[in-house]
Order: sequence, then structure tokens, then C-alpha cells
Amino acid sequence: MAEEVKKKGRKTAEEKKAELKALNKEAKALEKQLEKIKAKAKKLDEAVNPKKEKPVTLCGGQCLTCADCRVKACFNNETGKYPPFCLTTAVDKELLQSAKDIYLNDEIDKNLALTAAYVEGNFYGKYTRVQETIEFIKQYGAKKVGIATCVGLLNETGIFAKLLRKHGIEYYAVGCKIGAIEKSEIGIPPENTLTKGEKYESMCNPIMQAKVLNAQKTDLNVVIGLCVGHDALFMRYAEAPSTILIVKDRVTGHNPAVPLYTAGGIYSKI
Ligand code: SF4
Repeated sequence: MAEEVKKKGRKTAEEKKAELKALNKEAKALEKQLEKIKAKAKKLDEAVNPKKEKPVTLCGGQCLTCADCRVKACFNNETGKYPPFCLTTAVDKELLQSAKDIYLNDEIDKNLALTAAYVEGNFYGKYTRVQETIEFIKQYGAKKVGIATCVGLLNETGIFAKLLRKHGIEYYAVGCKIGAIEKSEIGIPPENTLTKGEKYESMCNPIMQAKVLNAQKTDLNVVIGLCVGHDALFMRYAEAPSTILIVKDRVTGHNPAVPLYTAGGIYSKI
């Protein structure tokens, strides 16, 4: 009798196994639930902090960048002078090496970098931009140069083309209105046109300019006076590397730095 009572108080091996099985099942269910909660928390976290991915370069936690620097210690690697927020001292070494590898291994990029250095090293402060561009074209070895020009600067383009001929450089120029597509055809509203919809206005067509120069198989393109944004589109679609000769700024005679130089005066209200 006493033996039976003792047995009743204890769990049998089968009962223990069954209990263990139930506990494992419960643990698995809890684990699944935890994973779901973690995924939900991650989603919420990403929604609240959308820019949480690893920054390419650090800015000392103060969000100061090269725009705030007045020492330019990177110019000669003056190690004692780097500012606390310096992008060079916090640079991502792997990223830096990957950029260096491109200069060393990509034929076109290597040629561009070495040619740019040649022009800078030999003509800095001596040559105008026009002279530098011609020198760059020659040294780069471009067989055919594309010119993507604003039709408002065809006179300037004509003079530049004449200089290219004088230097024995083959070129092909295409103006921004190529194809004469009316602005409304791509959804530009009349209020955003120069004549407010009263006249036929051809759109600037930098994508077509790029396609024409791509078809001409140019080795290098020169941009002359494309509007802000149209230049971006041209460079997105041009297959050959592009350099800019004139940046259009009608107000300052194509010198966009003027408002920056006079920011303390006439342009202080920008
Ligand atoms: S890398 Fe450093 S030293 Fe160079 S300009 Fe930027 S902040 Fe200044």
C-alpha cells in the first residue's frame, strides 16, 4: 500500500517524456512569436529612422563635412592639422581602395585621370578653359569629339569648332532642340514654358543629344551651355565621358560663381 502511494507521487518516465515534448513545442511556438515581434520592431525602426544604414564616410557625429573645413589638410596630408570631423581621417578604407583600384585598372578612367593630371600639372593657371579643353582632347587621344550644345550658344560653339578644326580634331555637334518636339508632348505644362503656351516651343532634348553622339561613336564629349538639369540628363545617357566647357548662366555672362563671390553683397538674399 505504502509503495503504491509513493509511485503515485512520482512521474513515470512516459509522463516526463510527454511533458518535455509539450514544453519543447511551447518553446518553439514562443520562438516563432519572438521572431515575428523582432521583424515587426525592425520594420518600425526602419520607418522611424529611415537613414540608419552605414554612412559611406563619417562626419565626427556632428554632420560637419568638407564644406565646413578651412584647413584643407588633405591637400598635403598634414596629419597634425586634420579637423576633428575630417572625412579623410574617418574614410572607409575599403571604399578608398576600391576607388584607387579603378584608376589603376580601368583603361578609360586611367587615361582620363592621367590626362587630367597632365593638363593640370603643366598648364594650371596658364591656360584658359578653352585651351585646357583642346589640350585635354589631344592628350587623351580622342579620335572624334562630340559637342552637346545649347542652341542659344551656337555662336560660341561655332568658334570652338573652328578652333578644333585648326588643331586637326574631328568633331560632331548636336544642338539641344534636336527633333523639335513640342514641350507639351512630354507633359510640360504651359505655365512652365517661356511663352506660357502661346507659341510652339521645342523642348530641350538632352537624351536625344546623347543618343546622336553615341551613334557617332564619339570618344569624348564637350558640353556647351546645357541648362541645369538638361546637362544631368545628357551625362546620364552619353556613353563617352563628358567634360564641360561652358556652364550656362545668362544673368552672369556664364560665370555661375559670381553670386558666390558676391554673397555678402548684392546676392545676400539668395
Ligand atoms: S578631407 Fe578633411 S582636411 Fe580635407 S577638406 Fe575635408 S575635412 Fe578638410
